[in-house]
Parts: sequence; C-alpha cells; structure tokens
Amino acid sequence: MMKRLTDMYASLGLDEKLLALGKEIETVLKDRFDAIDQIAEYNQMKVLSAMQKNRVAEAHFSGSTGYGYNDLGRETLEQIYADVFHAEAALVRPQITCGTHALHVALSANLRPGDELLSPVGRPYDTLEEVIGIRPSKGSLKEYGVSYAQADLKEDGSFDFDAIGRAINSRTKMATIQRSKGYATRPTLSVASIGELIAFLKSKKTDIICMVDNCYGEFTEPVEPTDVGADLCVGSLIKNPGGGLAPCGGYLVGKEEYVEQAAFRLSAPGLGKEVGASLGLSQTLYQGFFLAPTVTAGAVKGAIFAAALYERLGFPTFPTCKTARHDIIQAVDLGSKEALKAFCLGIQAAAPVDSFVTPEPWAMPGYDCDVIMAAGAFVQGSSIELSADGPLKPPYTVFFQGGLTWYHAKFGILSSAQKLLEANLIAL
Ligand SMILES: *Cc1c(COP(=O)(O)O)cnc(C)c1O
Repeated sequence: MMKRLTDMYASLGLDEKLLALGKEIETVLKDRFDAIDQIAEYNQMKVLSAMQKNRVAEAHFSGSTGYGYNDLGRETLEQIYADVFHAEAALVRPQITCGTHALHVALSANLRPGDELLSPVGRPYDTLEEVIGIRPSKGSLKEYGVSYAQADLKEDGSFDFDAIGRAINSRTKMATIQRSKGYATRPTLSVASIGELIAFLKSKKTDIICMVDNCYGEFTEPVEPTDVGADLCVGSLIKNPGGGLAPCGGYLVGKEEYVEQAAFRLSAPGLGKEVGASLGLSQTLYQGFFLAPTVTAGAVKGAIFAAALYERLGFPTFPTCKTARHDIIQAVDLGSKEALKAFCLGIQAAAPVDSFVTPEPWAMPGYDCDVIMAAGAFVQGSSIELSADGPLKPPYTVFFQGGLTWYHAKFGILSSAQKLLEANLIAL
C-alpha cells in the first residue's frame, strides 16, 4: 500500500498544521508560480536552440588533458553560452575557481594602470572589496595603480544619476554593475533597469566597458544583461548556470575583445583561450546548463514561498513575497539568535547530504561576529543548492537560497519553520 504524501511529510517530521499552512500559501502563489514556469520554459528553449544550432554531439563530452589544445567540447560549450547570452564570445572554464575569481579575471584583464573602475550601484559584494583594494590586499587592483570610484544608490534603491555623472572622468574605463543584492539590503536590479543604467553610462562616455556581476541572476528573467547593452557578464557555475551539476567553474560572456583579454589573463598572454584542459567535465557542464532554467525556477519559487510563509508567521522579509524577482536570494529577519539557529537547523535537517549534523555558529574570517551556515550539498559551497546563512547579530537576518528542485526547496522551508515551532518560537 502506497503511503499518502501527508503521511510521508509526517514521517519526515512536519507538523500537520504547518503542512496545511504551506498548502494554503502554495494555492495563493499559483499565478506567480505559473509566471515563473513560463520564464523557465522560454529559457529552456533558448538553451536547447543554442545546443542544436551548435550541433552538440557525444564527441563533445570526451574532454582533454594537458594543455587542452583543440578541445572541441570546451569551444562548443563557450559558443553555446555566447549564443544564449546573445553575445560575441564566452569563456567557460573549470579553471575559474569561483565567482570572485571570474570577476577578478574580468576586471584585472581589462583595466590598466592609471584607469579607474566605477561602481554606480554602491558598495560591491564583500569579496570584491579585496579584489578592488577597498580593503587592502596583496595583488589588488589598487596595488596595480587602478583607482576606484563609487556612486551609492539613493535611499529608495534607485540610481543616483547626478552622482554617477559626477563620478565619471577621463580615467573611467570600466563600470561594475552588481545585478543581485547579494547579502546587502538594497533591491536586486532588473535587467531592464540595468539597461537604463548602461544607456546612461554610455551617454556620458561612449567607450566605458560595462561589466555586470551576474551572480544569482541567470535565468530568473527571459533576458540577460548582455541583451540590454552589457559588454561583459560574469558569474559562477556553482550558482544558477551550473544547474547544480557543475562541480566548479566560472564564466564570462560578452564582447570578443574583452573576453579575449580575460582569456589572456586567465592563462597567459599569447595562450588565451587555446589552452585549458576540460578534464572530462564538459558533459556535466553541458548537462548542468541544460537543466539550469528549471533548477533556477525552482529556487525562485522557493524564495517566494519562504517570503510568503515567514510573512504569515509575522517576520519581516526582504524582498516581500509580492516583489518581482531578479535573483534567488531571500532574507528573513528572525529577530533572535534562537530563531536563526532553529531556521538553519531545519534547512540542514532537510538536506540530502549531512542531514544529521547540527550547524554551529563560528568566527568566520572576514566577519565581525559569529556566522551560522546550513548546507547539505552535493557540491561544496554550492548556493544553487538549498542553503542558508546569517550573522549572529541583530536583526538576526537569515539569507536563504537555492534548492535543486522546487519540492526540495519547499520541504526545506517547511522544515525550517518546523524547528521554530518545536522551539516554541512561533505558534500556529
Ligand atoms: C556569490 C557572489 C559573488 C562571488 O562568488 P563566489 O563564487 O562566492 O566567489 C560575487 N557577487 C555576487 C553578487 C555573488 O552573489
């Protein structure tokens, strides 16, 4: 006799009332989820068309070793990325270790001593501070004589065009535009608004190279920043575009000239894209990219579901469940250390890997307080997989993201609330 789904959830430890609340919320969100499915369907066809156009065949999966000369699988995958992003060229490599590395390659390759980098959207992602030299670091752009200017967003999260105009000068060579809010409290930028910003920057200075930090944003919309004038788009393969399968890697996509500069920087001047063994990873990168539109859609649904559930439970959320989505990150102010720990315990308990461990806060380097993290992932640090983290300081905000399937994201969120319920931190 087959177990009923509700009994299965009960045996996984979910309270009946919580399950009923989850079901109710899912019903309310039906139209939004339909819209997300439509974006996924569109993006799926975009990826499929690019794969067919480039005549992907089994031979592309065989991979290379050593120098990696003439690696047809690697070259074809790069052409597929370029086609999906409607761009001239791409660099998609397992040798790019993470998103920060990809961004560093893009910046350091295209800037020269005496140039200035501008962030027109305020302070960049934490790890970029050392890349740029906002916080001193060995080998930062600053050490190489590249200066940095910043125009903050206005109070309401909109662009401060006056300040941006004032910041542009004869040395301004490149602009770095972060699409996702990351772990900051500002709105994530839509692709359309990035387009407006790029048009403004180019109207002030035609040859400014506009680079978008696309981390967490890929496939959340039917268009990408390269569709609205970005010269370069950069991201990590253990986030959205790896589809949960890529075991490592990063990508850059955009104008041929800027991608080539990056290839020369990643390997060596003169070698560029010609080298870089794919080590048998190509098949996984192809397959992950093929799955990425639906995996991303599941993660976006999870983020909205989390917002809706926690709003119902009385917690402030950012963004709210009504907000249009352009990335996969959800923040919830949990208000106490106990609630933050319980939330993370629930996410961990819902994982397919390491579900039996208890996340403990620790003094992570680079933070001014203890941080707690929950992740039971197939790929270490993968944040397209269900994961949560937060600094142990008021307002005890948890940042939640990922879920390789919508069903897993949903279960993880319900499991987090279950732990709050068990600790008497919420009532139903
Ligand atoms: C994750 C992320 C990065 C850096 O990526 P890592 O892979 O962690 O190095 C940069 N920018 C944004 C907006 C991100 O979300």
